[in-house]
Amino acid sequence: MTLGGIQKSSMIDYPGKISCILFLSGCNFNCPYCHNPKLAKGCTDCPHSPIKDVGEKFLKEKNIYDFLEKRKDFLDGVVISGGEPTLQKDLVSLCQRIKAMGYPVKVDTNGSRPLVIKGLIEMKLVDYIAMDIKTDPFHYSPLIKKDCNPQDILSSIRIIMTSGLPYEFKTTCIKPLVNAQVVENISRIIQGADMYALQQFHHTEVLHPEFFQKDEQNYTQDELTRLKSIAETRVQKCILR
Ligand code: SF4
Repeated sequence: MTLGGIQKSSMIDYPGKISCILFLSGCNFNCPYCHNPKLAKGCTDCPHSPIKDVGEKFLKEKNIYDFLEKRKDFLDGVVISGGEPTLQKDLVSLCQRIKAMGYPVKVDTNGSRPLVIKGLIEMKLVDYIAMDIKTDPFHYSPLIKKDCNPQDILSSIRIIMTSGLPYEFKTTCIKPLVNAQVVENISRIIQGADMYALQQFHHTEVLHPEFFQKDEQNYTQDELTRLKSIAETRVQKCILR
């Protein structure tokens, strides 16, 4: 298990719950706009990431469990985020330990490892799944991942939508990865989904700053509203973040 950091509490990352966020290090994607570049590259100490309260004492697994045990009266759930959590070989045991403490678990994933997601669902080790859909699943290559298999992304979507669990899909809206046609295509793929969030890109530290030199990648609020109007005809609920 490579723990990259912890956010002790959050009101917004697990819907309806006060949650602690565990950031697992390492990712198999290469999103130019990634806000956690050090986590994506697999570091275990990310002082410049948006993660709050990162401290050496929290990076050991036992200390995480001790912390969660002590905070039972205050926290309602645990978010396992990244990086990409499904790459971690100890993810199952991490979820088992957290579930054994009585916490509901939310997992954030990029959807690249459908069998891991399926396993967590079947073992009842996850209670909420949030999956990023970066762009049209058939066009992840080359910017997101050179050899990405679209069928993995599509499988993850199907597994999540038929899981019976609460879930959400989300897309960070950034040009040229996302446009009206892409939102239309994604919305068709997730037709009927409970929840789809279109997220505005905020330019902070990113994985590939060179991608942003022209400063033309951001969507305005009006443009985002138009993208939302495309998606909301096909899903149960679409929001802008
Ligand atoms: S945004 Fe997420 S999926 Fe993309 S590189 Fe960063 S951690 Fe990986």
